[in-house]
Amino acid sequence: MPTLCVFCGSSVGGRADYADAARHLGTALARRGLGLVFGAGHVGLMGVVADAVLAGGGRAVGVIPQALVDKELAHGRLTELHVVDSMHASKALMADRADAFLALPGGFGTADELFEILTWAQLGIHRKPVGLLNVAGFFAPLLAWVDLAVRERFLRPEHRALLHVGEETEGLLDRLLAPHAGPAVPKWLDVER
Ligand code: AMP
Repeated sequence: MPTLCVFCGSSVGGRADYADAARHLGTALARRGLGLVFGAGHVGLMGVVADAVLAGGGRAVGVIPQALVDKELAHGRLTELHVVDSMHASKALMADRADAFLALPGGFGTADELFEILTWAQLGIHRKPVGLLNVAGFFAPLLAWVDLAVRERFLRPEHRALLHVGEETEGLLDRLLAPHAGPAVPKWLDVER
């Protein structure tokens, strides 16, 4: 089963739009026969996505470090729950299980996961599509910084294009799941000049 890895907040955020988008995504995954892999939390948007996948009869696979299980943060009703030793191991296993990645609004944890997976993409460590669901314009400041990094020549336009940005779930899922071949562009901007 094709599987989407979702990075999103362990909080629900300050607007109903965020949880609405998370719920819509989970429902869409189940309806499309796509599996979910995620950080296994029952809290925040993570719990909302997983609950919607399960309510729709879909598969929700969680990967979580033991330290977070000990804090009773793991979702109790997942299709599969993998408990690992560290956040590093958790991110590696999620990446391994996924066919594509999608970030929803969140905080440091979400940003860390998104940028790590983009970094691995630009280094050619994987060629899986990466998306960002820009719910209610939440990511506008972050995207402005990304565009600044391109203008200031810290980031290649080809690597900026590795990030599929969408305002709307269904269209973004279509783009992420379309046959994809990442551009074979070297990472370093200055060495070949
Ligand atoms: P944040 O955006 O800081 O709320 O962090 C959310 C991201 O970090 C999720 O995509 C998870 O993979 C991971 N994470 C943070 N908190 C938890 C938690 N309580 N349980 C499981 N994973 C978490």
